[in-house]
Amino acid sequence: TGFSQGFDAQAVELPGWRHAYSGKVRDLYEPAEAAPGESANLLVVASDRISAYDFVLDTEIPDKGAVLTQLSLWWFEQLQVPHHVVSLDVPEAVAGRAMVCQRLDMYEVECIARGYLTGSGLAEYRESGTVTGIELPEGLVDGSKLDPAIFTPSAKADVGEHDENITFEQMARLIGDTPAQRLRELTLDVYRRAESLARERGIILADTKVEFGLDATGRIVLGDEVLTPDSSRFWDAAQYEPGRAQPSFDKQFVRDWLTGPDSGWDRHSGEAPPALPADVVAKTRARYIEAYETLTGQTFTP
Ligand code: ATP
Ligand code: MG
Repeated sequence: TGFSQGFDAQAVELPGWRHAYSGKVRDLYEPAEAAPGESANLLVVASDRISAYDFVLDTEIPDKGAVLTQLSLWWFEQLQVPHHVVSLDVPEAVAGRAMVCQRLDMYEVECIARGYLTGSGLAEYRESGTVTGIELPEGLVDGSKLDPAIFTPSAKADVGEHDENITFEQMARLIGDTPAQRLRELTLDVYRRAESLARERGIILADTKVEFGLDATGRIVLGDEVLTPDSSRFWDAAQYEPGRAQPSFDKQFVRDWLTGPDSGWDRHSGEAPPALPADVVAKTRARYIEAYETLTGQTFTP
């Protein structure tokens, strides 16, 4: 069907559409009348699933899929890059959380731009002074600003496995030199534009991951979701203070609870994490909505 083995999700039945693939968060459908793998368009439905530490949790965050979809749609309009959204003519059951998109032949790389050093970038820097092979100045700390922002690709891993940071040269070997250069350019364009829009709203866009693919005519098109709390690190500019972990508009409550004493879970045990308590769910939901409302200046209506 053109899709690899995906996440084993309980995708809903939708009239006129056939389930084709599920990632950790999104379910993809093809028009029922088209032969598998052949349709020009796909229905991309964002579920309320949440993943942390490479596990899809048993607990869902109500409205998360709608928030991610609405925020992505808002960004697609702000960015001046060709994107995959075709229409919002979607089945009633998934209204708000779904969009009809061009089917793309996705590049198997995650295109990451970092304007601040943290996460896996910081870990590599502490080991080697580099991030995906790019040498950085000495003395940087958690949260240090990187000026200019850097492009740090990673190779997409299968479900349950960790994406792996790769150098630009490795990326060029995987997808070709010219496409690699173009994706780097586009990714840094997206980052710069989004960073400046977010900054006007008091939010620092520390880093972001985007995915591109080729459309039927061979044009490079921005796909997947964009600039959501799942794909990006958003920090409150008012509380920014390099040298420590920054409070962020994302899964922080989930990660903190999972790794804290109350969950009884050991991240390195290989076992699936436990269900989330109601207050962690409620706080996480509120955080996603706050990110949407702060960035777009609009009220979220479920
Ligand atoms: P994956 O399942 O690829 O390992 P994931 O768990 O992050 O990653 P999701 O984000 O939940 O997956 O699912 C979205 C999937 O749909 C991703 O594999 C993404 O590359 C793919 N995708 C996004 N937009 C398109 C598109 N326009 N055409 C084809 N595939 C797309
Ligand atoms: Mg994804």
